[in-house]
Amino acid sequence: MQTSPQSNDKIYDLAVIGGGINGVGIAADASGRGLSVFLCEKDDLASHTSSASSKLIHGGLRYLEHKEFRLVREALAEREVLLAKAPHIIRPMRFIMPHRPHLRPAWLIRTGLFFYDHLGKREKLLGSNNVYFKEDSPLNAAITRGFEYSDCAVDDARLVVLNAMHAREKGADIVTRTRCLSAQREGQYWVVDLENEQGQFQIKAKALVNAAGPWVAQFIKQDLQLKSPYGIRLIQGSHIIVPKLYEGDKAFIMQNDDRRIVFAIPYLDQYTMIGTTDREYQGDPAQVKITQEETDYLIKVSNAHFKNQLTQADIVSTFAGVRPLCDDESDNPSAITRDYTLALSKESAEQAPLLSVFGGKLTTYRKLAESAMQQLKPFFPDMKGSWTATEALPGGENMESAEQLAKEIRAQVTDASETLAKRWASAYGSRIWNIVGEATSIEQLGQHFGQGLYAKEVDYLCAVEWASNSQDVLWRRSKLGLNFAQSEIESLDAYLATKPHHTVAA
Ligand SMILES: Cc1cc2nc3c(=O)[nH]c(=O)nc-3n(C[C@H](O)[C@H](O)[C@H](O)COP(=O)(O)OP(=O)(O)OC[C@H]3O[C@@H](n4cnc5c(N)ncnc54)[C@H](O)[C@@H]3O)c2cc1C
Repeated sequence: MQTSPQSNDKIYDLAVIGGGINGVGIAADASGRGLSVFLCEKDDLASHTSSASSKLIHGGLRYLEHKEFRLVREALAEREVLLAKAPHIIRPMRFIMPHRPHLRPAWLIRTGLFFYDHLGKREKLLGSNNVYFKEDSPLNAAITRGFEYSDCAVDDARLVVLNAMHAREKGADIVTRTRCLSAQREGQYWVVDLENEQGQFQIKAKALVNAAGPWVAQFIKQDLQLKSPYGIRLIQGSHIIVPKLYEGDKAFIMQNDDRRIVFAIPYLDQYTMIGTTDREYQGDPAQVKITQEETDYLIKVSNAHFKNQLTQADIVSTFAGVRPLCDDESDNPSAITRDYTLALSKESAEQAPLLSVFGGKLTTYRKLAESAMQQLKPFFPDMKGSWTATEALPGGENMESAEQLAKEIRAQVTDASETLAKRWASAYGSRIWNIVGEATSIEQLGQHFGQGLYAKEVDYLCAVEWASNSQDVLWRRSKLGLNFAQSEIESLDAYLATKPHHTVAA
C-alpha cells in the first residue's frame, strides 16, 4: 500500500508543512484527537534543524539567567514526561559544571540549581549537588570543584521519526521528499500545491500548519504571498565530534570567558560531542556548515577545561544547524528567546486558518503541539482532549529499560554482540521484534553492510520509517555513518537502489 496520496477528493482537517520535530509533533497530536492530517516534508524527516541539535531534553539552566521562567518550568517537567514516553531513545544524564569563580559566583550557581531542582515536577531524575575533583579528574588541575545536576540525552532524529510513525498509526498521511510549492485559500479550504518525484498534485485542508522551521517566514511571504506576523532570526549552532575525551557517562557544561556555555557530551560509546556555538546566519539554511572560527572556538573552550588537549586533527566529524528563533530584537545571538510563539491568522470568520510555528526546542515539542491544538480547537470543536502526555511513542511500549531489552535480544539472537543488541534496543525499543522476527542467529538477518547493519534492518527502515537512501539510514535513522567506510556505503546504496521507495504502515 502506498501512502503517498496524489491529488484526491479527500478534504483533510489539517495540512502540516514540515517534517521536523514541530511538524510531526503537531501531526501526531492532531491525529490522536481524531483530526484527519496530511504532512509533507520536502527532504527526509529531521533532515534540518531537528537532527543538528545538542541532543538534550533539558530545562536549559542558562535560560534562568535570561529570566525565561515559563520556558524552563515547562521544559523541566517535560524531561520526565518524555523519558516515560520514549525510554529507548531518551536517557537520564548527569552534567558536571566546573566552577570558574571569575565567571559566576558559587552562590549564583547554587541558586540557579535550586530553582532547576524545584521549578518543574521531578520524580526520577536526581537533584543537584557539589562535586570536588581529585587528581584522577579529566579536568585541568586548576579546576578543583564544581556542581552536578540532571538532564536527559535524546536521539533527536529518531524522536522525529517516532512521532511521524505515531501520527501515521493514528491515521495521518505523511509524505516525504514532497515540497509544498504554494497554498491558497479557497473559501473555507486551503488548496495546497505539492511536488515530488512523481509530479505535481494538490490536496485540500480546512486548516494549514506552517512548521517549516528555518523557512517559516519565507514560506509565508513567498509561497503563501502573505505578510509574516513575526520576524525570524537564524542562529547557527555547530558541534564537533572527537574520540572520547574522558571515561564515564557524564557530560560537562563548560562556562566560557564570553559567558556562553559549551557542552562536552559522551556520544555513541567511542566519542565526545562538543558544542555548541551561536552565530547569526544569513544564507540558505540547507547549506549551513561549521566555520573555521567555530571549530577553533570549540577546541579552545575544551582545551581550557580538559587535560586531554585537542587539535583540529582529532575531529572525526562535525555538524551544524540553524535555530529558527522568533526575533525579539536581542543584540546577542545567545540571548534571543528559545521559547516558541504560535501565530494564528485568518482575515474573516469564513476563512480557513493558518497556524505558524516560530521558535521552539526539541524538549518542548509536545507542549507546543498541545498549544497548537488549543488554538485550532474553535475550528474543530469536536476534537478529543489532550492525550500525548501518557501514551508511549512507538517502541516505548512495554519496555522496562534498554539494558533489559538488550538482554532479551541476546537471549533470542544468541550470536548478536552486546554492542549490536544495545544499539537495537536503544534505537527501536520493543519494535525491534518487528525487525528480528523469529530470527535466532545473525545469519538469518540477511546481507551485512558493515558495523552490524543487516538487510532486515534496512528493509524495516525503508518499509516503516520512510528511509530511502544511505544518508537517511546512516545519519538519521542511525548514526552508523560515523564508522562506515566508503565501500560499505556503496554496497548499501546498491542494495537501496533495488528497493521500492515507499513506506507502509506496520
Ligand atoms: C545547534 C543547535 C542545538 C540545539 N540543541 C537543542 C537541544 O539540545 N535541546 C532542545 O530541546 N533543542 C535544541 N535545539 C533546538 C531544536 O533543535 C529546534 O528547535 C527544533 O529542531 C526545530 O524544529 P522544527 O520542526 O521547527 O524545524 P526543522 O527541524 O528544521 O523542520 C522544518 C522542516 O520543514 C521542512 N520544510 C520547509 N519548507 C518546506 C516546504 N515548502 N515543503 C515541505 N517541507 C518544508 C524542512 O525541510 C524541515 O525539515 C538546538 C538547535 C540547534 C540549531
